[in-house]
Amino acid sequence: MNEYQSIKFHMTDDTVKLPSRATHVSFSQTARLPMQPLPQPRLTAISLFVFGWPLCLAYFSANSTGMAYANQTDSVPQAASTVEDVKALMQAGEYEQAIAAAKQQVDKRVWNESWPRLLIEGYMTVGDYDRARSEYEVAIERFGDSIPLRLLGVDVYRMTNNAPQAEKQLDEIETLLRQSPWRYSNRSNLVPVGEFYLMRGEDPKQVLKICFDQAVKLDPKNIDAHVATARMALSKNDAQVAAQSLDKALALAPKDPEVLYLAAKAWNETERGRKEGFLQRSLDSNPRFVPSLLYAAETQMDSERYDAAREILNRVEAIQSRNPILWSLCAAIAHLTGDYELEGNARRTALERWNLNPAVDHTIGRHLSLHYRFEEGAEYQRRSLAMDPNYAPARTQLAQDLLRLGKTEEGWSLVDGIRQSDPYDVSIYNLKQLQAKLAKFTTLEAPGFVVRMDAKEAEIYGDDVMLLLWQARETLVPKYRAELQEPIFVEIFPRQQEFAIRTFGMPGGEGFLGVCFGRLITANSPAALQVDSNWRSVLWHEYCHVVTLQKTKNKMPRWLSEGISVYEERQRDPSWGEQINPTYREMLLADDMVPISRLSGAFLNPKSPLHLQFAYFASSLAVEFWIDRFGMQGLQKLLEDLSIGMRQEEALARLPGSLEILDQEFLEFVRDKAKQMAPSADFAPLPKDPSLDVQRWLAEHPNSYFGNRQALEISMKSKDWASARKIADHLITLWPGDSSNEGIYWKLAVICRELGDHDAEYDSLIELSHRASAPREGLLRVTELAKDRQSKMMVRTSEILQGIDPMSDAVQELRSLAAEQTYDPHTARNALRALLALDPIDPASILYRLARASIQLDDRKQAKRYCLQSLEESPRFTDALKLLLELQDSANDKPLPENR
Ligand SMILES: [Zn+2]
Repeated sequence: MNEYQSIKFHMTDDTVKLPSRATHVSFSQTARLPMQPLPQPRLTAISLFVFGWPLCLAYFSANSTGMAYANQTDSVPQAASTVEDVKALMQAGEYEQAIAAAKQQVDKRVWNESWPRLLIEGYMTVGDYDRARSEYEVAIERFGDSIPLRLLGVDVYRMTNNAPQAEKQLDEIETLLRQSPWRYSNRSNLVPVGEFYLMRGEDPKQVLKICFDQAVKLDPKNIDAHVATARMALSKNDAQVAAQSLDKALALAPKDPEVLYLAAKAWNETERGRKEGFLQRSLDSNPRFVPSLLYAAETQMDSERYDAAREILNRVEAIQSRNPILWSLCAAIAHLTGDYELEGNARRTALERWNLNPAVDHTIGRHLSLHYRFEEGAEYQRRSLAMDPNYAPARTQLAQDLLRLGKTEEGWSLVDGIRQSDPYDVSIYNLKQLQAKLAKFTTLEAPGFVVRMDAKEAEIYGDDVMLLLWQARETLVPKYRAELQEPIFVEIFPRQQEFAIRTFGMPGGEGFLGVCFGRLITANSPAALQVDSNWRSVLWHEYCHVVTLQKTKNKMPRWLSEGISVYEERQRDPSWGEQINPTYREMLLADDMVPISRLSGAFLNPKSPLHLQFAYFASSLAVEFWIDRFGMQGLQKLLEDLSIGMRQEEALARLPGSLEILDQEFLEFVRDKAKQMAPSADFAPLPKDPSLDVQRWLAEHPNSYFGNRQALEISMKSKDWASARKIADHLITLWPGDSSNEGIYWKLAVICRELGDHDAEYDSLIELSHRASAPREGLLRVTELAKDRQSKMMVRTSEILQGIDPMSDAVQELRSLAAEQTYDPHTARNALRALLALDPIDPASILYRLARASIQLDDRKQAKRYCLQSLEESPRFTDALKLLLELQDSANDKPLPENR
């Protein structure tokens, strides 16, 4: 079972047991729990069931929510005479009609509290909070013992800036529950009672068990109970429980816009396609459903498509002009686009109706953090907590922000606090599990770095990690004229799940090798991955993010940061980083090739994993283009402009003159690149004909890349090695740049091996090792063939192998031998230490070799220690004994140098 998975609930109680005292300590004796996390969205989520006028949006833009309803009475359709009818109008977004219908019934003083509730919900939905309050004050006189009505009153008073009255409604509910708990244990009250307990900060697990689960048990078709469960589970990051409840809710109400909206949220992280499908269906059901519109705007913001987001927000404004989340998102967009004055104004508007609404600053901060602006994001969470210290979403987000900023002590102590008061939150539960694992990690320190690794891994290649990071710092910091806030924290995880929890707060994200947050790098160790990759290239890439993110104070578009990192990988080693291939070539030449100004969207909203990978490559080409056109200085200028908060569009347009020119020139650049890739090759696809005779096709199209590939496959399969070699040679002439691990150079090597031509096999493998990023098998074969060849090549090969699989003793043995042969005692010592940590069969000989390497490093004291240890393992090991005696003799002549 997955130790980081969600916590499940099991209902054990058969009877409904309401707590006798409805206070925050009645469920548990723990400290007061965080406030229910969806105050504002919750308000909409509960009340948005109800709204809808068929009037055009213009009627309700800005401040026109006043007089319009009163005159609607005549237009109430005859059919809307029952509560269900009016709910249906609300669900369809016919808010104005729903209000008019409910008003009619309220005016008739019908004895049914559903009518004033629907009316108040209607007014709240269209943002007419004052009318909602007047209606509430009348209704509560008549239906003072209605918990759903009182809960609505909480929202009503909050949105009319009357916190004491809002609190008073909660106190009244508490009194009602204390006086006659039996009255509220029926199916219609269990859900609102549960909502109340959540608002009071009770243990959500208990609320689920005692209220929502019981409500479902009494009535499996109770959609409100399913929705309440889903909403609560989502607020605790428990997508699994949410999805289960939503499945049931969807079966009952497949067109309910709220259910569809929540389903979109549940699929958010895991399946983008499903998320978008549900969101679309929600808006098809009700194009004026505010939570879905806000969520759609947020999705656009995630892709840095701020204009599209603003357009959607304008639609929300036309429905509910003073919605706090609407204005919070406006403030976040303003911040992200450097318009700080607008940001302040939007935030003020967001807080106008409820000036201590913690959701406002939390929402702004969350969006800043999503764009790597953790410092500012954390500041906003602190502001949110100043308004409500128990506001759970802000506490969780702040903990994550701090951990990502490298402020681990404060971050972990916050995690501890949240975990104590909220044992349910799945992301916090996972973080706590991770913390216990991290405590067992080894910490390695060097100027500029604090590296945390699994203890065993640190023993085996920790020194190599430190060396690589030091080289990255020496190369990239001066190149980008960056001044870093140090140390940089690097955490390397031997299990992918731990990497994911630390990085995303949740399991998942299998495609990621490493992530950089500005001052923190998290990375998978090779042991954590299913595929071969080179940890050196990963750390180089991530460290380059450190440099560029810090240089711009995290104010850079995603594509630029990725593009520079991939570009710098290739600069360091041409076999690192994404390289062109026939698929990319086609994508570069396609009509829908993304221009520079829209590259970020390619990361944030990719059509497929291939498109995401291509986004890295295309961005690196954009950087190459920029440097080609404006020089390294031009790139520094761009980063400096962004760091002072200049809008991306403006900064990008400065040197080329305009965005249009930039996009045009970039497209020409990439098309040239694509055409230069293999000018004599014909990349036209083969006809889709199963009976195609490839040989005949090749007679007419001798340079067809795909034709030759197919012919090669056929020859290899039929073991016609002589023909295969001819085709492989021709393919290399057509496109010498194939860099895939199992590409043409690997195939040619296999063919030559079969033909017994080991010289040619070796040459092809060397070509492969210069181009491919992790050709493990090819490299291992090189080491077999290279025994009597130049050992420099062995050193290089074993170093690449160590980048792919440092935990392999065979690899470390090769590396140590190669280093010994080339008199590289430093590498020899690292490799031998690694071997020693890998529980070797013959530790005495490794210790002896370590002693020899130490002598070459002028560390005789350590050499002597290794000799003694070797003899301890094998007392009759004469070579070690001899060496020890030599060391003793020389020690009599001169003092031994100090240990280094
Ligand atoms: Zn990256």
